[in-house]
Amino acid sequence: MTTRILSGKTIADAIKSEIAAEVKTVEIEHGWRPCLAAVRVGQDPASEVYVGNKVKTAAELGIISEHHHLPVETSHEDLLALVHDLNANNDVDGILVQLPLPRHINEREILEAIDPAKDVDGFHPENVGRLSLGYPSLVPCTPAGVVEILKRSDIEIAGKHAVIVGRSNIVGKPLAMLLLKENATVTICHSRTADLAEITSQADILVAAIGRAGFIRGEHIGAGSTVIDVGINNFSDMETASEMFPAEDLEKRIATIEKRGSTLVGDVNPKDAMEKAANFTPVPGGVGLLTVAMLMKNTVTAAKMRRKI
Ligand code: NDP
Repeated sequence: MTTRILSGKTIADAIKSEIAAEVKTVEIEHGWRPCLAAVRVGQDPASEVYVGNKVKTAAELGIISEHHHLPVETSHEDLLALVHDLNANNDVDGILVQLPLPRHINEREILEAIDPAKDVDGFHPENVGRLSLGYPSLVPCTPAGVVEILKRSDIEIAGKHAVIVGRSNIVGKPLAMLLLKENATVTICHSRTADLAEITSQADILVAAIGRAGFIRGEHIGAGSTVIDVGINNFSDMETASEMFPAEDLEKRIATIEKRGSTLVGDVNPKDAMEKAANFTPVPGGVGLLTVAMLMKNTVTAAKMRRKI
């Protein structure tokens, strides 16, 4: 089976250039640019990279961004006060509070304090409810990115059996709603699912959002299916590397492990996916790149809705 690699970079670049053009048009016609406020608390290294990428991408697309980096000892009340200030600030169109937050902060209360009209991550219960009802809403970025990959790769969704492994509030559940809206027949699997491979191997579209490196193996994958790998995990086990990566990729992966101590893998075993799937998203270079692009799209959407254009 020749597997088509669905390049997240190509698709994300296309979306980003559309957004940049839209931002330019808004500025010419209305005299303002969308503004994203990113809030980060503490020194989590992954969060630093994620927020850095988001702020950099915003700048590339002409979106104004504010980066509020608060010390780890910031109190719940002070963070809440910042969210209220950003809600009240008419120049701010989108608010993003990078997770995870330090343990002493009540994450749920912070996310629920964000004005739903500025909730560019789509995590506020009002937006989650609107998505479930099939109303227009700000949709979580990673699931929205998965749908963009499918659509822009001309992979039919309507009438197909989509199986999602993972039921988190940020990926699995909202993705189920989006695929349902696209008229897929949707099955959601999780850690208590019996006979996982029996179900996943029936999928036309299989999405893995589990958080376990290479967990989805050949027996889980239906021949000729589309496999979307949402997972992002570090892999460093030299002994099993040849079971994880296809021969043509192995040398490069081993070199990366030797140089950096680990290499990024998804929740799907890429070697097996390349043997069975018709379409497959790579890690890195797949869904992750779409997440940032969709955040930018949400920022422009939020700006246009708020400012009624
Ligand atoms: P969560 O940990 O919140 O959810 C994981 C899900 O996987 C749960 O529903 C869990 O089931 C299920 N699961 C765990 N073990 C098994 C198993 N053995 N069999 C079947 N299901 C299982 O993770 P997230 O949804 O936040 O993230 C999933 C992955 O996606 C991670 O690798 C994360 O890094 C990545 N990610 C990537 C993003 C991107 O931009 N590409 C963005 C967000 C996440 P249960 O509910 O029963 O516990």
